[in-house]
Amino acid sequence: MKKFLALVLSTVAVTGMCADAYPSRAITLIVPFAAGGPTDRVARDLAEAMRKPLGGATIVVENVVGAGSSIGSNKVAKAAPDGYTILLNHIAMAAMPNQLRNIPFKIETDFEYMGMINEVPMTLISRTSLPAKNYKELLAWIYQNKGKINLGNAGIGSASHLCGLMVQSALQVDMTSIPYKGTAPAMTDLLGGQIDLMCDQTTNTTTYIDAKKVTAYAVTTAKRLTIPVLKDLPTMQELGVKGFEVTIWHGLYAPKGTPAEVVAKVNAALKAALKDPDFIAKQEALGAVIITDHRTDPVDHKKFVASEIARWSPLIAAAKEYID
Ligand code: ASP
Repeated sequence: MKKFLALVLSTVAVTGMCADAYPSRAITLIVPFAAGGPTDRVARDLAEAMRKPLGGATIVVENVVGAGSSIGSNKVAKAAPDGYTILLNHIAMAAMPNQLRNIPFKIETDFEYMGMINEVPMTLISRTSLPAKNYKELLAWIYQNKGKINLGNAGIGSASHLCGLMVQSALQVDMTSIPYKGTAPAMTDLLGGQIDLMCDQTTNTTTYIDAKKVTAYAVTTAKRLTIPVLKDLPTMQELGVKGFEVTIWHGLYAPKGTPAEVVAKVNAALKAALKDPDFIAKQEALGAVIITDHRTDPVDHKKFVASEIARWSPLIAAAKEYID
């Protein structure tokens, strides 16, 4: 009993000290998708921008990949709640409870929400060897090649998977889903012609579209984008796909039980980063939009994720693409 009490007291003391002195050592920022992909890109730029507001702390980005981001997210859910292990994840936080119904953690209760970062449109792209050069030709090609089309994605629960489901549901065509550990490796195969199509964030695709290494057909937002490389791309809605709209959002999460002072410090550093002109410019050049509204506050971040879980549930249930 004495030993137990001593342990409890020392834990409290250490936790208290950590919160005051935080951060006193390197922070690990877990990205649950492959290095070089769109989520990784946001994380690496953000880590740089948050360094100064966190007193010069080192933020190490670690890619813990696989299973539609559930492996990396689980690692953070189970990590020590001391602020030294943080997760950066996207809309998968809303897709996972719908698509991966047996994940060993709960999105709603196993994390401290630390604030939202940005919103990123997606683009529908193909290998350049595919003969269709615009959406109309793509539709014709899709209907001619029914049953033979490979669609790359970052696994069930990922953003690219969700967007791919929306495309298949809108066109009423089934495609073969080819899962990767992120859309960076999927992009390598798209460039090599091993897969046909992909729907991915502009934080990955903009550079390849600009270099004409992939063919782009449409953006997934309700309005056209303004950046020069993407401004001529029509929206899916303009192309006649009613109600088609998906935007990927990113946020920061810590294990449940992380001290409130630590959450507040990370949130303040995040908000400072979201005002950093260099970070803003880097993100905007890739089509991302920095979030500046109430969703950068942890409470509203949590409410927003809950609303997104409810929003995506019917589409995923109808597509029957989930793992029990
Ligand atoms: N774009 C990926 C997704 O589809 C994630 C990534 O590779 O960053 O979720």
